[in-house]
Amino acid sequence: MPVAATQETALTEHAAPHLAMPGPILLLGAPGAGKGTQSKVLMSAWEIPQISTGDILRGLRNDPEKSVTPLGQQVCTAMDSGKLVSDALVEQLVLDRLAQQDTARGYVLDGFPRTLAQATWLDAQLAQQRPQVSSSLPVIAVMVQVSYTTLMRRTTGRRTCPSCSRGYNVFFQPPKNDSLCDVDATELVQRPDDTEAVFAERLRTYDSLTTPVVEHYRALGRFAEVDGGQAMDVVTHRVMDAIVRLRS
Ligand SMILES: [Zn+2]
Repeated sequence: MPVAATQETALTEHAAPHLAMPGPILLLGAPGAGKGTQSKVLMSAWEIPQISTGDILRGLRNDPEKSVTPLGQQVCTAMDSGKLVSDALVEQLVLDRLAQQDTARGYVLDGFPRTLAQATWLDAQLAQQRPQVSSSLPVIAVMVQVSYTTLMRRTTGRRTCPSCSRGYNVFFQPPKNDSLCDVDATELVQRPDDTEAVFAERLRTYDSLTTPVVEHYRALGRFAEVDGGQAMDVVTHRVMDAIVRLRS
């Protein structure tokens, strides 16, 4: 959409606060909180990469050279059998990724640290690095907070056109005509796991893992919360302001 593109350009070029060393930034947010969108804006505004454990695992599995290394084979075996990849493996992969040059000024963490144990581990690793390495700044965490009702509607309201793949949301972006696609009048479909029961379960799992991580960073004075129920660009400004504040 041209409008969204213009807003994003304006934000990155004029409104993004300058931050020479963003350091490691952990963005937190429940499923549907819009964390992915915010992460992309931070990456482009401050020219830092995203370190996503999901991306690393998928990348390793799809790389013909890396997938045959002992580490790669362990990851493939775990993923193929539908098991969670062990903490030790994930930590090794994160360390390898953080050793790459593009992380020097900072990075956005996605999907890691997911547990208190991983958060403590990462803090210790970063503290061990030489102080003059900018990326050894401590992790700061920003939570994009969205109400249960909004999250639930964002998820359970999702519909897709099976013919042209256009997406809708019956609460926020409904089709003009009942349950038919605006473009080709095909009956819209809902993904079978976009139900409130599945959503509530995912949220419970997310909360039980995330709460100790939040408390960890809060106790260290490295945590901020942002109201994610507002317009996308408003949320972006709040997230950036929070990061600048935590880094000052
Ligand atoms: Zn369609």
